[in-house]
Amino acid sequence: MSLKALVGVKRVIDYAVKVRVKADKTGVVTDGIKHSMNPFCEIALEEAIRMKEKNLVKDVIAVSCGPTQCLETLRTALAMGADRAIHVEISQDIYNKMQPLHVAKLLAKIAQIEKPDIILVGKQAIDDDANQTAQMIAGLLDWPQATFASKIEPDGDKRLKVKREVDSGLENISVSLPCVISADLRLNEPRYATLPNIMKAKKKNIDKKTLSDLGVDLKCDTIVMNKVEEPPTRKAGIKVETVQDLVAKLKEIGRI
Ligand code: AMP
Repeated sequence: MSLKALVGVKRVIDYAVKVRVKADKTGVVTDGIKHSMNPFCEIALEEAIRMKEKNLVKDVIAVSCGPTQCLETLRTALAMGADRAIHVEISQDIYNKMQPLHVAKLLAKIAQIEKPDIILVGKQAIDDDANQTAQMIAGLLDWPQATFASKIEPDGDKRLKVKREVDSGLENISVSLPCVISADLRLNEPRYATLPNIMKAKKKNIDKKTLSDLGVDLKCDTIVMNKVEEPPTRKAGIKVETVQDLVAKLKEIGRI
């Protein structure tokens, strides 16, 4: 097989950062906060690179949609092993209002231009936790989808065998190409970019696309964000010594 893989990589607040809500409740604080590649996108990208190392894939293209800072995420993708990168530049104002459907429309449009055999994305972005983009890209392109992948293998010349993590266990499916796959946690452990590869990545090409180049309409009036709030703080619990005390307490507060 010598496939072309398109991988969606999203820049998000680093998973280790304690997220704080802005005082005016219009969103979360992002200024001066460490950002990184969404962990599930790292897994999706790692899988594409491993498929290249096994000669299943010949070209890995990383795509990130968002403001200029996404270039950092794309440089990381190139340093990990992507061959090329595409930045869909979107102003912060527009990006703040974007929904997964808009990203899906942009990635579907890039797919129509690049004609990949596989689109790999993370199963979800850890900032919006939406878990929608893969499914919507597949819907827009009318391609088969294999979401929550924990193993991907070739299945003949024009198909892939995918093990999916589903609520009841593992599901094995076979999808025809081209297809959309979303990466789950156990698919692989992503590599760290090495210093020489970080240096080499600086010379790799990042194409820039604008919304008007792609002709995608990002109009969104169906969802309006009213305000963002911290979750209520949980009250401290109490310790009881015996089961009898527990039952008495539960009765006292009307739980039994
Ligand atoms: P979501 O549906 O928002 O949970 O995101 C699922 C996946 O879609 C992410 O892990 C990425 O692979 C891809 N994705 C979402 N937003 C973007 C973006 N702005 N740029 C590139 N890929 C994205």
